Amino acid sequence: MEIKIQKTTEFKQKPDQKHLGFGKVFTDHMFVMNYTEGTGWHDARIVPYSKLELDPAAMVFHYGQEMFEGLKAYKGSDGKVYLFRPDMNAKRTNATNKRLVIPQIPESDFVEAVKAIVDIDRDWIPTEPGTSLYIRPFIIATDEFLGVAPSKTYLFIIILSPSGAYYESGLEPVGIWIEDEYVRAVRGGMGFAKTGGNYAASLIAQVKAHDDGYSQVLWLDGVERRYIEEVGAMNIFFKISGKIVTPMLNGSILPGITRDSVIQVCRSWGYDVEERRISVDELIEAQKSGKLEEVFGTGTAAVISPVGKLRYKDDVMTIGDGNIGPVSQKLYDTITGIQWGTADDKFGWRIEVK
Ligand SMILES: *Cc1c(COP(=O)(O)O)cnc(C)c1O
Repeated sequence: MEIKIQKTTEFKQKPDQKHLGFGKVFTDHMFVMNYTEGTGWHDARIVPYSKLELDPAAMVFHYGQEMFEGLKAYKGSDGKVYLFRPDMNAKRTNATNKRLVIPQIPESDFVEAVKAIVDIDRDWIPTEPGTSLYIRPFIIATDEFLGVAPSKTYLFIIILSPSGAYYESGLEPVGIWIEDEYVRAVRGGMGFAKTGGNYAASLIAQVKAHDDGYSQVLWLDGVERRYIEEVGAMNIFFKISGKIVTPMLNGSILPGITRDSVIQVCRSWGYDVEERRISVDELIEAQKSGKLEEVFGTGTAAVISPVGKLRYKDDVMTIGDGNIGPVSQKLYDTITGIQWGTADDKFGWRIEVK
């Protein structure tokens, strides 16, 4: 893939690293590539970050044919720039694309595009502890047509956003609302795909949970509303009687890269990791009998998010003593250590951007 580079002449002012927050500021450049039926992906380019001009009839605005990804670049203490398992994001992009009838992108082109845009804007990668450069690749359908059909043209874009430490004062356990009214996805639907429609469907429950003082929603399966699926933008893990348990991938759960990494790390430590169905009744039972030792979410943004409280209907369950559990803490330290280049990368997950 040949990438044309047009550098900006108006460099933006970089934000204060101590108050970055998430997803609010964007870097000087963006990666763009077009798809046209018959030609394939073409005109890969890096251009100054700018607004898009799209026809109001562009299909993405009407039927939601779009996908996105999320990963991060880190500046190691050695000054080198690292990505974490970007090949997995490339693979997941194509799994999502297949479901949304968006054309496949060669995995090596995806990774090359991510590396190229991060390299150009590498001075934007923050260096304060816990900070990183969030990378948001996405694809939108651009045909100017109101008929319902897969688009024949697309834009693949990558934007970058310096993001702050997720936890400003250590790993804070969160309260989670187990949603028993709305559902996020069903088998045969697109729950496993990283696409905006899943999030659009989730907002109403998120608002409800926030209004009640809970930070995230835990979804149950869409048919029986009995089995645990995942949290807002995270997968979920439980430590029950010394075993690590997480819902199996069934088509309605997003296959998280952090989820996969946590499973591999836990197995390397000798834990039994079970990927299976877990009912909300089993969870309540385990909590009542003192067997529910830890609960944590996993995702690129927070890496590990300990859960201190779970609410289901009229039941409020406190997990352990409400503080972060030892396995959650050790997983966080191990995985972020690999990402930041301070720990031994025995899995070969850290990829340098040269
Ligand atoms: C992205 C995402 C996750 C987490 O995936 P990671 O690859 O670990 O960041 C979990 N659930 C949903 C719905 C997601 O969109």
